[in-house]
Formats: sequence, structure tokens, C-alpha cells
Amino acid sequence: MEAGAQLIGRTVPIGCVALEITQRCNLDCTLCYLSESSQAIKDVPLEEVFRRIGDIASRYGEGTNVQITGGEPTLRPRAELVAIVERAVEAGLRPALFTNGVRASRALLAVLCGAGLREVAFHVDTTQQRKGYATERTLNGVRDECIARARGLPLAVYFNTTVHDGNFAELPALVRYFVNRSDAVRLASFQLQADTGRGVLRARGQLITPANVCAQISQGAGAALDFDAVRVGHACCNRYALALIANGRAHDALDERRFIARFRGRDRRATHRPAELAPLARLACAQRLADETRSSCRARQAAKAHVLRA
Ligand code: SF4
Repeated sequence: MEAGAQLIGRTVPIGCVALEITQRCNLDCTLCYLSESSQAIKDVPLEEVFRRIGDIASRYGEGTNVQITGGEPTLRPRAELVAIVERAVEAGLRPALFTNGVRASRALLAVLCGAGLREVAFHVDTTQQRKGYATERTLNGVRDECIARARGLPLAVYFNTTVHDGNFAELPALVRYFVNRSDAVRLASFQLQADTGRGVLRARGQLITPANVCAQISQGAGAALDFDAVRVGHACCNRYALALIANGRAHDALDERRFIARFRGRDRRATHRPAELAPLARLACAQRLADETRSSCRARQAAKAHVLRA
């Protein structure tokens, strides 16, 4: 544990819990964390999934984020997936669907929303070797499709991107893509290449470091983002920045460190998830936003909280 800006262990027991409901997947990523034999492993029985949900709720308490993940969770029968979301909601947890999006149709997302789903994280990147999509730029069409499927539903939309040697140079452009869609995308997560599982790319190159990835994110956002003002976990594990987008421009929402420090650890809800720091961040940036909104009253609608994570 780390003192200071870190929240986990001080105000919340855990950031999120992964609930793996299958090891099967309809893709074969070059950096997949699953084992070689994962496709042959039988799904966890539904009753066991329910037991684990109860266990998570009793260990970590109400409001804990639970990532319904795999493998690809949408490969489970729809009725089972709905039942899992419902059970998580009944247990007082906050379920998020982590999917590669291939089978996450709008119809399925709508049904899951009816069951209580409020977050969806799409994993879309070049490690997936989707046919006809050799670069992150070309994959923006796939991302647009994911956004369209979730638009209008009561879902916070996240995107996961694995950073590897082959797409490192594209990160600033990808961040600009997310900034330009801040009306729909609430969190962009960048996960560094890791030598684990059945992935074939193995160890990351020297360029792929947390500091370099943060720098690429700041470059793409067009603003020096502070990845150290608020930490969910240890900085060696994950780092967050919170940006406000106004008139298409990103602003660091946590640049008033002394002001932010006054609120850290006081309110469990405000510190439970970085995205929920948005009201606080708005206060911190009030002056800057006021400058923006003076030039355009439309900016009031355009101002959106946006989280970038490395
Ligand atoms: S990383 Fe995720 S999407 Fe890719 S093959 Fe593995 S489980 Fe499937």
C-alpha cells in the first residue's frame, strides 16, 4: 500500500473485482492473458458464479465494481448472462460487462440494461488481428459501431486498448479519437503489453513504460495531464488522469493538487471511482471552464468529464 494520493486501502477496500464467467473466446489476441487450454475449459456452473457474487459482496461490501469478464462473457447463453447481472445487482454490486464487442449487439446490451447493467467496457485493438483492420486508426470504425450500439442506453462506455510496440506511435491519435467522442466515451484504459498467457508477442519493448504511455496520452489530449493527483491503487499498477473536455479541448481536471487533497478520503462515494470525482473536478476547474464558456454558450453542453487511464 502507498500513502498519500492512494485511495484503495484508505477509503475503499478494493477498486474492482473481476468475475470470470468463461474462459472461451471468439478471438485469439496476440497478447491474450488466458492459457493455451482455455478454449477447452468448461464454463463455471451458474450456481458457482452466484456463490462467487455473494462472496464478493460479503467481502468487499455494497457498491463494489464487479467486472463480468472472461474469456468473452457474451459466449454464455443470454439467459445466464442476464441472470448473472441480475444477481450482482441484487447483491448490491455494480456490474460492468467487459467484452470484445463482437457479440455485444444493441439488443443484448438493452436486455442487460434492463437487468441492471450500467457499464460496458469494449476491448478493441490491433492485438485482436481483426481482418481488414491493421492499424488502430482503421479500428476506429469498429469503435464507432460499439458506441452506436450503446448510445441512448443507460450505460457508461469504456474502451480498453493494449499498448504494444506495434501501436505505441498511434496512441496520441487514438486519444484524440476518444477526446472527440467524449460525449459517449467516459473512460479510456491503456494496458501495457505483458509477457503472460497464450499471447505470442511476449515481453514489451523498451518504449512501453508507464511514463512513456502517460506522455503519449497527454500528447494526444493536448494537455499535460496529472497522473499522480489521485491514485486508485499503487502507481506501479495503475495510474489515472481526469480530463474535462470543453469546445473539443481537454483540460486537466486535477491540476489543483492542494484543493483535491482536501477532499481525498472524506467521502466514500466521491472517491469510490475516479469517474465519480467529476463533480469535484468541475469545481477545481470552474475558472478554466468559465473562460471557455464565455467564448461559447454551447460549450456548457460540450463540457464532459473524461477519464484517461494508463
Ligand atoms: S484478450 Fe480477451 S478478447 Fe483477446 S483472446 Fe483473450 S479473452 Fe479474447
